[in-house]
Amino acid sequence: MNVIVIGGGASGMAAAIEAARKGANVKLIEKGERLGRKILATGNGKCNYSNKDCSEDSYNDNAKEFVKTVYSKVSPEETIEFFDELGIYPRLESEGRLYPASEQAASVCDALRMEVERLENIEVVTQHWIKGLLKRREGGFYVVSHRNLRLMTDKVIMACGGRAGSQYGCEGDGHALAEALNLEVIEPCPSLVQLTSNEEYFKQLKGVRAKGKVTLIEKDAHGGDPKPVDSEAGEIQFTEFGLSGICIFNLSGRANRLMYEKKKCSIVIDLFPEIEKEEFYEMLKLRLERSSHKDCEDFLNGLINKKLIPVVMKSSGVKKLNEKVDTITEEQLRMIAHKLKAWEVTITGSKSWTDAQCTSGGVELSQIVPETMESKQYPGLYFAGEVLDVDGKCGGYNLQWAWSSGILAGRSAAEDTDA
Ligand SMILES: Cc1cc2nc3c(=O)[nH]c(=O)nc-3n(C[C@H](O)[C@H](O)[C@H](O)COP(=O)(O)OP(=O)(O)OC[C@H]3O[C@@H](n4cnc5c(N)ncnc54)[C@H](O)[C@@H]3O)c2cc1C
Repeated sequence: MNVIVIGGGASGMAAAIEAARKGANVKLIEKGERLGRKILATGNGKCNYSNKDCSEDSYNDNAKEFVKTVYSKVSPEETIEFFDELGIYPRLESEGRLYPASEQAASVCDALRMEVERLENIEVVTQHWIKGLLKRREGGFYVVSHRNLRLMTDKVIMACGGRAGSQYGCEGDGHALAEALNLEVIEPCPSLVQLTSNEEYFKQLKGVRAKGKVTLIEKDAHGGDPKPVDSEAGEIQFTEFGLSGICIFNLSGRANRLMYEKKKCSIVIDLFPEIEKEEFYEMLKLRLERSSHKDCEDFLNGLINKKLIPVVMKSSGVKKLNEKVDTITEEQLRMIAHKLKAWEVTITGSKSWTDAQCTSGGVELSQIVPETMESKQYPGLYFAGEVLDVDGKCGGYNLQWAWSSGILAGRSAAEDTDA
């Protein structure tokens, strides 16, 4: 069995290794100079390569059932074992995140590269850009390179990634190759990315971090009823252009998708999710009584980050911050309570593909058999990794998806003989 794997990233290397171990002759074709460039950048250079609590729940709604089936075939435990055999000793960190004990992403990349080198039936071709895929009438495929070379093969595994981290070679080639075969591709948009806003105050809030709950709100273009879409809790980072932090990242794919659908969206921040709104207002009332000697600018001292105070006060109608707190009216106090419990930030977009860590959208999943990763329309063609419409949250879920789907595609491509 001859198998060509297009893309030498996380899923492509896993697929090539598994296919070769099952006896296939594998050609692993990578556009860049080296295999696995993006892996080196993952997890801030430490590579959060899996999560102890990985399940379909950490992926987009369209993908949950699909991911569940794939993980029933190649479980996260199996991939942790796969890496253990390659010498990667897992170290558990907060929220179930797994990192190599070396705390170096290079270890994960090197372990895969060494295994690719050890397997004599894998040929690595770098600096080769695949631009076309043709089905042969006699069976199998031609894979067409940028030099118009036609490589004949029985099976193809498409593992070109999505568009996130485009500086590492992922520019949506897999989507273009799939579309050229008339396969449906859900419009890709950046996920796990910072969200932007035009609110003036962000310039002065750069560097502020605050814990809380964030809710993504959908509003239709005609200003209909706002609808909560999803919520996350954690550390919110205020930046000069908008909002960042893992909880924001986890909502960003859905926010971008709403905006791609021409809907409006906002993020509502609750800086005190542990207290009910009315109880919080009563607490502020008591604080007011105890603070008669203070100026307005000090009223919220100890409650929120100092840089947030003038923004909250002014947007609640308290304009003169050097006046005593007894000038704050009941209405203004209610506004302050509202701001701290439901601070609404209108979102205008997100940072670009080079800042995004994942792609929302991609090859539509109903076209793929989840038990094998094979295309229903093109037997012998398999898909793996981020090129598909699967996007996970922060925490090792995207690499886990790349490994499991890659191993399953490699195994199926090597074993299946009816192409
Ligand atoms: C900065 C950053 C940090 C991240 N950190 C984490 C993390 O800690 N944990 C986690 O789970 N996920 C993380 N991710 C996400 C994770 O890296 C990806 O989901 C994963 O690498 C996807 O694997 P893949 O094989 O589908 O694609 P990729 O790893 O992107 O590999 C695709 C490969 O295909 C090649 N290619 C593309 N087109 C062609 C073509 N036409 N011909 C030949 N080759 C081609 C590309 O050059 C690339 O090498 C991070 C992403 C980024 C950008």
